[in-house]
Amino acid sequence: MRLTTLLVAVSFALVAVASPSATAGPAGGRVEWMEVFSPDGTIGRMPVRLPAVEPSASAMEVAAAEVVPIEINGSSATRFDLVFVGDGYTSTQLGLYHQHVQSKWNEIAAFEPFKSHRTQFNVWQVNVVSAQSGVDNDPTNGVSKSTALDMRFWCNNTERLLCVNQTKARQFAASVSDVDQVIALANSTKYGGAGGGVATASGGNAQAGQIAIHELGHSIGGLADEYDYGGGDCYPYGEPRELNVSRSTAAQMRANQTKWYRWLGQTSPDGGVVDTYQGGRYYKRCIYRPTSNSIMRSLGRQFNLPGREAMITAFYRETGVVEASSGQSIKSAGETLWVKTVGNASVTWQVDGVTVGTGPEFTPRGLAPGTHMVKAIVTDPTDAVRDEQARAQWMTRTLVWHVTT
Ligand SMILES: [Zn+2]
Repeated sequence: MRLTTLLVAVSFALVAVASPSATAGPAGGRVEWMEVFSPDGTIGRMPVRLPAVEPSASAMEVAAAEVVPIEINGSSATRFDLVFVGDGYTSTQLGLYHQHVQSKWNEIAAFEPFKSHRTQFNVWQVNVVSAQSGVDNDPTNGVSKSTALDMRFWCNNTERLLCVNQTKARQFAASVSDVDQVIALANSTKYGGAGGGVATASGGNAQAGQIAIHELGHSIGGLADEYDYGGGDCYPYGEPRELNVSRSTAAQMRANQTKWYRWLGQTSPDGGVVDTYQGGRYYKRCIYRPTSNSIMRSLGRQFNLPGREAMITAFYRETGVVEASSGQSIKSAGETLWVKTVGNASVTWQVDGVTVGTGPEFTPRGLAPGTHMVKAIVTDPTDAVRDEQARAQWMTRTLVWHVTT
């Protein structure tokens, strides 16, 4: 439902835009910090000057783009909608484009916590047709192609940085009625990509899905980068907003019950134990990260426990836990009440405050004459979330019926 854009172009060295911190530059342009991904998994950042006004696509071009549902798990109002757009695919290469989209989604969907929450996503493919096959500066700098989204390697003079016309990418993505995240794939096998306001990746490179996953860590989970270079030595700012970086030591976190204090000492899926590891958010010292080397620090790794918790909470913030339910008006005993849940949420039924059952349906029977309050408490009890306030706010909903007998 939120409109953020993630473009993924997959090839062999990837680039993604980091936090979407764009600042106005001289000459009417703007500067965006973009992330660059190396084949060895390391990630870097660089300022990239983007034009203040990009050429836009014509209404006719956009109207001609067919929308293909890839995986629809429910109504867009209660799902996170991922939208793929493609560049450098000609009208005879839409089959190849579809393979690239499917393989990228398969990679994301096999990765936790997406894997356990797959049904909270809808995935769409917008068939953007280009006049020529391939993208600019691929395989070598200087190659020029006429394509619908103007995707190009060697952006900002950096080989693996794969840029896109973000205006056009968003125009085509808007062919889908509810866009939460746009991923742009380039018809290329060269390792590369970019992230940020719009992330990109090479469609034909098997490692490019990792770029999309890292960028979704930023755009969905609001996670910080955990790498410790590119900024400086001692982190000079106040406590950062992101849940996976902190100025506090483990002892301070425990004492003040802040950040990932609930996870300290737990074995993390990315390896090792959750603690406070020095360095993160582009600085070497004076700031800590939860684990030694999660995917927010290097590609090819897993999210750490605090990162997973932030992602899962964010999934539910977008989708809620209830897709539909029987009407809320007063009911008669003997009528079946029901709740259709979202994701991994389950239902507990209560009558007048007493738990009477679980499951998607409940039929009140044998009640004493009068009006009774029936409640359905819908929640995901996953132990991957330890912040009970977040669970109560985003992952729990209580429905109430007044049943008369
Ligand atoms: Zn990043």
